[in-house]
Amino acid sequence: MKPAMLDSFNEVRERNIISIKEAKEQGVKVIGKYCTYLPRELVLAAGAIPVSLCSTREEPIAAAEEVLPRNLCPLIKSSYGYAATDKCPYFHFCDLVMAETTCDGKKKMYEIMQAIKPVHVMQLPQTQQGEAALTMWHEEVLKAKRVIEDLCGVEVTTDALRQAIRLVNEENRALQALFDLNRAKPALISGMDLVKISSQISFHADRWQAVAMLDSLVSEIRDLAAQGYRVGEESSPRVLVTGTPVGIGSEKVVALAEQCGAVVVAMELCNAYKPVFLHIDEEDRRDPLLLLAEKYLHIPCSVMTPNAGRMDLLESLICDFRIDAVIDLTWQACHTYNVESFLVEELVKDKLGLPFLHVETDYSSADLEGLRVRIEALLEMV
Ligand code: SF4
Ligand code: SF4
Repeated sequence: MKPAMLDSFNEVRERNIISIKEAKEQGVKVIGKYCTYLPRELVLAAGAIPVSLCSTREEPIAAAEEVLPRNLCPLIKSSYGYAATDKCPYFHFCDLVMAETTCDGKKKMYEIMQAIKPVHVMQLPQTQQGEAALTMWHEEVLKAKRVIEDLCGVEVTTDALRQAIRLVNEENRALQALFDLNRAKPALISGMDLVKISSQISFHADRWQAVAMLDSLVSEIRDLAAQGYRVGEESSPRVLVTGTPVGIGSEKVVALAEQCGAVVVAMELCNAYKPVFLHIDEEDRRDPLLLLAEKYLHIPCSVMTPNAGRMDLLESLICDFRIDAVIDLTWQACHTYNVESFLVEELVKDKLGLPFLHVETDYSSADLEGLRVRIEALLEMV
């Protein structure tokens, strides 16, 4: 017994290339993004299509290394490599890349990427604290709105922004409902399926259809659960993966944990739980741009200093999902997540008394066997 809806997510990325091409032929603008900090509501309110850009596979990294240093995060090299080799159809079709000054490697890479495609870089404050940070980010959101309006030749109205806020709230509600299925014990969906679904759905050009697909899947799994459906056993170790983003092609740690008998029931990652709990109150009648600035500034990413919100989120996920062990994933040369791992370990081992493993790796398969041994050792401690 397996949820039939799961298969409908298999080819979303491929199917939507055709939708994007057709929309472009009708004059619709396509705006690409790499990072969660972009307020997607601005793009939706302008009638443009926001698309995630490819960045999670190893294939284009060799081409990227002809320009970028080898000792750089694989996510940055993969992003640039796809752009330089024109192998990401979404990058190919996008009219503009909206980027942010998150980590040093990314913001410097964007300077070079501008030779391939127009890139607008939003200046992200390094802290979530204080009025000055919010004022600066609010100003950046306003500038981004003007850039998008110029590109699309439309005025982004307050009404359109409020409708887009409602849509993104719905997307987050639907994704959170999916992730929350695994509050059940035994789990109801594997970590590998969660990676596949959250990656594929980010490419969907019609966001209301994406919400409907997620709602149907959740409803089907709930119905199956009532008939005894589950993933893994009552005794399967319940693992939480936290850290740098994971997608199709860079899911090796999630795959290994599940091959070793665990179920990755929760992920504190950018394409999982990290952004979905951020919600805008639709009854709040203040300036929608300010509401967007407040929301996105609170993403608990390690590029923020301090980043206490990540520890609060982690602690609540570990309790709510009845986690047995935590894997903290850092892509090689990602200094912010690497340093922050010390604080994650303190929380997980010292405060919560759980087994903890910090993994620093890249997109290659060179260290698979070494990682397998370390993950097996972690699970033996459960
Ligand atoms: S981890 Fe941080 S920098 Fe990376 S995509 Fe998420 S918010 Fe952006
Ligand atoms: S994983 Fe780290 S180094 Fe890589 S893009 Fe994200 S924040 Fe930057």
